[in-house]
Amino acid sequence: MSIKIKKHRSSVEVCQYFIEYRWIGELAGYLFPCDERGAIRFEDLSAEALQNYEKCETDERLEYIGLVRVVQHVKTSAIGQCYCGKDVSLDGLESECIFCGRRYNAIGEEKKS
Ligand SMILES: [Zn+2]
Repeated sequence: MSIKIKKHRSSVEVCQYFIEYRWIGELAGYLFPCDERGAIRFEDLSAEALQNYEKCETDERLEYIGLVRVVQHVKTSAIGQCYCGKDVSLDGLESECIFCGRRYNAIGEEKKS
């Protein structure tokens, strides 16, 4: 017998965009976060990242690769309704309700020990 599942586990697609520069002839380089049109979000860059960007713009050993799209599939946890009435996130092998301390497995069956 498992608790009521209010929201099933799912997977959401998260898209991130970067401007990439690489050392010529190598696979290594730099990625800078940007929007889907390739506009770098300079306000999000650390001082070090800004220095790296400046290096990419001026150092001839670095080449501009362009806009890179990275898609990640992020799993979201199922949400169950604990016997105490509060929501409990069901992730991993064991989840504990932070309100009453009951423990559940990934499909919402209470674990007794
Ligand atoms: Zn509870």
